[in-house]
Amino acid sequence: MPSDPLVAQHVLEFPGGYTRTTGPVVGRFLSELRARRIVGVRTAEGRVLVPPLEYDPATGEPVTGEYVEVGPAGTVTTWAWVDEPLEGHPLDRPFAWALIELDGADTALLHAVEAENPKAIGAGTRVWPVWRDRPTGHITDISHFAPEVTKIVSNVRAEYRLQAGGALRVFLEGVERGVLLGGRCASCGKVYVPYRAACPECGSAIPETLELPDTGTITTYAINNLPDPRAPQVPFVSAYILLDGADVPMIALMGDVPAHEVRQGMRVKAVWVPEGERTASMTNIRWFAPTGEPDVEL
Ligand SMILES: [Zn+2]
Repeated sequence: MPSDPLVAQHVLEFPGGYTRTTGPVVGRFLSELRARRIVGVRTAEGRVLVPPLEYDPATGEPVTGEYVEVGPAGTVTTWAWVDEPLEGHPLDRPFAWALIELDGADTALLHAVEAENPKAIGAGTRVWPVWRDRPTGHITDISHFAPEVTKIVSNVRAEYRLQAGGALRVFLEGVERGVLLGGRCASCGKVYVPYRAACPECGSAIPETLELPDTGTITTYAINNLPDPRAPQVPFVSAYILLDGADVPMIALMGDVPAHEVRQGMRVKAVWVPEGERTASMTNIRWFAPTGEPDVEL
């Protein structure tokens, strides 16, 4: 007749703590921890063991007694994610157990790494120790490690009013009428658009405006993959357009053409918003669109 097995429940516990001596090597490590330093010990072969050991596990030889400060940062070599921490775990929220090779060490230290989620940690993740408030000379003086700070979030908001100077005002009033105003330097002959009061090249005044056509040639361009409220879609193209008769290009948006078809030398023309909607602003030009003319050699 089967009988229940005999079972006795035992608890091994040392009320008040189990005291043991550390020996000089581990003792040095823990004393340094209490001072918020992490040290390793150098082996006869020159490797640095962290945590330090009394004998080199590779050769069995006693270590040299030379202590080397390492870290405090290190690199995760391998890790295991803990979704539900158990009692006695260093953190009460999800974390990773990781082997961390501290800078200057040749062996890895096992410790907890706090990370937002398992994707925030990997082999190669740089981590820094987070120290406990009151170190006591125990491995838990390092509460845990945390990934290196690689980004900060700051709130940015700028409100400003741009006051058009005399020359820009002249240009924008032209745009309101549907014309692009530039100016020719009387001294060096260069034609600038938008209109400016002085030649940036030779410094001479440009007293008169010059009306330029709204056609030109793309000199260079960029395909943008980040959305912009002014752009028709993503990807969109911003291009430097040399208006016919001008000596310096102006930057503008391209439209009515797939991004991959835009090219240097392409002939383009401004697409204006309807006359009734125009203001003294560059938004009057929706974008530049290809004219279909043959490309131009630049
Ligand atoms: Zn000039």
